Amino acid sequence: MIEQLVKEQRAYFNTNVTKPVKFRKKQLSALKKMLIENQQALFDAIYEDFKKSKFDTYTTELGFIYHDIKTCIKHVDRWSEKTKVSTNLINFPAKSYVIAEPLGVALIIGAWNYPYQLSLAPVVAAISAGNTVILKPSELPANTSKVMAQLVSKYFDPQFFTIVEGGIPETSELLAQKFDKIFFTGSVPVGKIVYEAAAKQLTPVTLELGGKSPAIVTQSCNIKTSAKRLIWSKFLNAGQTCIAPDYMLIHNSIKDQFLEQCVVELEAQKHSFSNDNYVQIINNRNFERLSELIEKEKVFYGGTTNKEERYISPTILNDVAWEDKVMQDEIFGPILPVISYSDLDGAIAKIKSRPKPLALYLYTSDKRTKQKVLNEVSFGGGGINDSVMHITNSNLPFGGVGNSGLGAYHGIAGFKAFSHYKSILDKPTWFESQLKYYPFSDWKLKLIKKLIG
Ligand code: NAD
Repeated sequence: MIEQLVKEQRAYFNTNVTKPVKFRKKQLSALKKMLIENQQALFDAIYEDFKKSKFDTYTTELGFIYHDIKTCIKHVDRWSEKTKVSTNLINFPAKSYVIAEPLGVALIIGAWNYPYQLSLAPVVAAISAGNTVILKPSELPANTSKVMAQLVSKYFDPQFFTIVEGGIPETSELLAQKFDKIFFTGSVPVGKIVYEAAAKQLTPVTLELGGKSPAIVTQSCNIKTSAKRLIWSKFLNAGQTCIAPDYMLIHNSIKDQFLEQCVVELEAQKHSFSNDNYVQIINNRNFERLSELIEKEKVFYGGTTNKEERYISPTILNDVAWEDKVMQDEIFGPILPVISYSDLDGAIAKIKSRPKPLALYLYTSDKRTKQKVLNEVSFGGGGINDSVMHITNSNLPFGGVGNSGLGAYHGIAGFKAFSHYKSILDKPTWFESQLKYYPFSDWKLKLIKKLIG
């Protein structure tokens, strides 16, 4: 069935109907219509899965997709135009230009933590660029996967856009097919599986992976605002955010004062972290994994768990060491380890000794510190004096580097991720220079050397 689906999408793509910009815009509008008309069903499904509130679902999932659709509809004409470039002298007379063409049949594999956004934002990019799409959402939030599959089958022709639901067997079967693009969001180990499968078919990939993203809090930071932003960003979605600050590296001269301010913020924002405003941990396996990371004697704040509710309160662990269990893998939950440092060079060296993070956040008011960190540390993207919010600016390409990912998307970066840029040298026939043809002579060589420079 999956093999047949890919075949049908390829045949559809080869009819060229997805290529006109008008068609793409129409499909983007259809996607928006689908989401708007069924918004309540989407709110209900995600609440059922892990108690995600309507407010959070709108601000971090649906609103995000609406904004992406609006941006793409507004700019896709311009993005799709052929771009003229200058022609070198040796080719005179000619025109040179670059044409963005869709890659073809795209496979998008989503993660569970923002199940609508991480599935459909790449779909928006793929459609804008003129591809057909098979989407495989994460199976963990079963209700969101189901509602998306039902709606997409109602609003779209499966030859153009369809959803295959399932887990490892279905994804493996999909990965055995020949696609023109694979866009994967998920963990590093599964990213390697996807990359390997893509390599067998020489399929281009975008890998949006994870990792341990540090928040460096320096002695010159604005303590009040920094604590407010850090607490919000860490515990949003109960810490189940790929770009959440994973751990805090804080200068020891301000550590106590800063942690006190974090407590003030946790209390001030407590309604965001309770009842229907705070999501559950996605499943029992993750609940168990996270619970084991809470070393009782290091709990500075929180540490409360409830297995039945899959609830873990916002938790800060103090005096954590680099060797501790919580510092080995991405946490992906509401636990914030705090490590203090005395010298920034040492802190930077520690970060650099580990895989390149997806995000890095620096809280400082010192220009030189900012320049130093931006210059010396490689990471996907991030913020100065803020965390997580860089993802909301679609003018910033979003992606990792090294272990945290390959490629980027959002805005024009998403369009580029699903496009091939075809370079054309377009020559008239009324003139042909004899320079490259026999007989070869010293004056020709001299001229060629001059032209090539
Ligand atoms: P995951 O890697 O377990 O699953 C991602 C997708 O891969 C799912 O659709 C799943 O069905 C499929 N999958 C799982 N195991 C597979 C296998 N063996 N073979 C083929 N397919 C398989 O990731 P997850 O738990 O859904 O998400 C959490 C991870 O994703 C974290 O590491 C997080 O940092 C990362 N993430 C990254 C971003 C980003 O934009 N960079 C966003 C969200 C999450």
